[in-house]
Amino acid sequence: MRAKPDSLIRPAIRALSAYHVPDPVKGIKLDAMENPYRWPDTLVNEWLERLRMVEVNRYPDPAARRLRGRLRTVMGVPEGTGILLGNGSDELIQMIALAVCEPGRTILCPGPTFVMYRMIAAGTGMQYIRVPLGRDYAIDGEAMRSAIDRYRPAVIFLAYPNNPTGNLFAATEIHTILEYAPGLVVVDEAYAPFTDASFLSALERHDNLLVLRTLSKMGLAGLRLGWLAGAPHWLDEFDKIRLPYNISILDQVSGEFALDHLSVFEAQAQEIRRERARLFGALQSLEGISPCPSEANFILFRVPAGRAGELHARLKDRGILIKNLDGSDPDLAGCLRVTVGLAEENRSFIEALRDSL
Ligand SMILES: *Cc1c(COP(=O)(O)O)cnc(C)c1O
Repeated sequence: MRAKPDSLIRPAIRALSAYHVPDPVKGIKLDAMENPYRWPDTLVNEWLERLRMVEVNRYPDPAARRLRGRLRTVMGVPEGTGILLGNGSDELIQMIALAVCEPGRTILCPGPTFVMYRMIAAGTGMQYIRVPLGRDYAIDGEAMRSAIDRYRPAVIFLAYPNNPTGNLFAATEIHTILEYAPGLVVVDEAYAPFTDASFLSALERHDNLLVLRTLSKMGLAGLRLGWLAGAPHWLDEFDKIRLPYNISILDQVSGEFALDHLSVFEAQAQEIRRERARLFGALQSLEGISPCPSEANFILFRVPAGRAGELHARLKDRGILIKNLDGSDPDLAGCLRVTVGLAEENRSFIEALRDSL
């Protein structure tokens, strides 16, 4: 008799539900932390000129040396630190897990946090431990230390700022975790363009620290380009399981081009930060709505009890897509998450939410 999925597929995979991405909507899309700004026409033309020269019949440079060199310079990666590229930072999370996974090994995260850590733990056969965040979604240092003692995690992931809560964990708590952890600590800085805080400069002090970044939230979500900075003796090991041409020639050339024009993206990030402050104020002024302070390009907010699903659906009916997190985690009951969009998109969102309340 031939195998069926329930006899052949690992139970941990059978128990997962696929990462859900809603169908594209016409209207206002504020659900996926995308940068709402398009490139100026002159930049688009220049970019297309560069792509014209690409030899797409040839394999790309497997090590993407030029792109990594550019990243090192413009992002200020410390001397002596290595850089590894991934097809999105998700792929780098997967590479780290694949390099350490063995039966009984643990990935530990304070939660609620980014769902891919748990999905990738399941995919690589690792145990996933969620340590509840404390008040205001801050790290509970004592709970973290006792969980570290108990599970001796191979890897701890700390999203900084955290997704979906938007806050920054206290840097002192992270330093304590770095000192205390028996394994690797990955500080995931996907939202770095929207905050001044970073652990890049701490790489020189902690051998077990890895800093994960992506160009997605900065404005290149369609490219799929993530990068990991850390001690070369760690990265050399991860590099062995990287598929040889994971960064396409189009990604490499486009990434280099974008980094040559980083100031365009930095200006957009500044505008998004200003818009974030306005959006936060507007949410705060709505009766029954409590937004969480955010250092990212989105805001988590709690709505009156039992109304998250209904409000999410009403907004969708008016052509505005945000993310409903109610039911995704015990500490996100009644929570919705909105990405900071263009000024007029944010205004339409606030207006629709006010009407729906
Ligand atoms: C969006 C996000 C990522 C994934 O980004 P990609 O580079 O697009 O794969 C990683 N970590 C966190 C915390 C995120 O929110």
